Amino acid sequence: MQFSVNVEKLKPSATIAVSTLAKKLASEGRDIINLSAGEPDFDTPAFISDAAINGIRNGRTRYTPPAGIPELRVAIAARLSERSGRAMESEGVVVTAGAKQALFNALFTLFGPGDDVMVAAPYWTTYPDLVRIARAEPVEVFGEQANDFKITPTDLDECATHSTRGLIINTPCNPTGAVYSVEELTALAEWCRDRGVWLLSDEIYRNIHHVGDGAAPGILSVPAESLGPYVLIDGASKSFAMTGWRIGFTYADVEVTKKFSALQSQITSNSATPSQVAALAAFSDTDAADAALAEMGEAFARRRALVCRLMGELLPDVPFIEPDGAFYLFFCVGGFFDDEIANATEWCSRLLHEQGVALVPGAAFGDDRWVRMSFATSDEIIEQALGRISSSVRAASAG
Ligand code: PLP
Repeated sequence: MQFSVNVEKLKPSATIAVSTLAKKLASEGRDIINLSAGEPDFDTPAFISDAAINGIRNGRTRYTPPAGIPELRVAIAARLSERSGRAMESEGVVVTAGAKQALFNALFTLFGPGDDVMVAAPYWTTYPDLVRIARAEPVEVFGEQANDFKITPTDLDECATHSTRGLIINTPCNPTGAVYSVEELTALAEWCRDRGVWLLSDEIYRNIHHVGDGAAPGILSVPAESLGPYVLIDGASKSFAMTGWRIGFTYADVEVTKKFSALQSQITSNSATPSQVAALAAFSDTDAADAALAEMGEAFARRRALVCRLMGELLPDVPFIEPDGAFYLFFCVGGFFDDEIANATEWCSRLLHEQGVALVPGAAFGDDRWVRMSFATSDEIIEQALGRISSSVRAASAG
């Protein structure tokens, strides 16, 4: 069938594809440990769900302005102001159906044919596809493994072209868990500012930060004078275990925000009203929100310590990035390639079929020697999964 040029290069999300296969095998009765999905395993905190239920009962079920209910935009701006120490305006906020739509709005509004958009790699699988949907060209920029794959201005210099119009970074990073410091972010921001390149910073995992105090640094931690044109992308999905509610947002210049809102008004209108009411609780009831973040954060930090310890004990020769944020372990399986297994996609397929463990091959993130494992699950399942992975590795090397 003939489709339009808009979707000619479009493929379904690789991470969702693995997760769907794992669920199908489980429904057929296989004992599957599914560590492929990118979502917290917690229930949405009760104060958030209750707010939505009350909202529905009180008639908050109608259309809202496309950019979101005004109180929610104000609450988000207030939290951003606390974060940055400077006044952020509610008119700069657009509430979206998940961070994914926030990214879509930004990429589709800012870029088009003939534009190159640099994507820090390894990258979240959706970025290059969203850039292509805007008919711009994604350009992968890899950082050094020794620097946890974080990119630097030198890496950008090597990949920039005369058509470079944007850069997408993600901190804490999916899939590596790497977190950029304020100094590293400032250097990238200044590189972009000096060249008039849009900096898109996806900080959806910002509150899942395992080292230091509080949330991870983000572009609002960068001195104002170092920032050129930018769009901050964030949301409630990961921080508040709200993946199904579909609440994200952008923060950008007010003129740009008006365009995002206009685009959204022609596509989805507003994100679901009860979800916005739920998000209002998450962003305005700061005491309850901080308590929920602390509780989930503690569990994530414990699991991160467990996963790193088990890697050292069970798979001592396997390189991995020690994640400072998010809930993924990114490890290299390149050392296991042989006549039968040529890449991480094949390695993951064998692991799923023989050991029933679903992980995401690095092909989804730009490097098919690596694999991503989510540790947003119980300690017991983490132990079982790593036990199965090490059995598989031992069996393959014995065979
Ligand atoms: N950005 C990154 C880096 C992600 O990992 C994800 C989800 O996996 C998203 C954005 C999308 O978030 P949402 O569910 O809010 O659309």
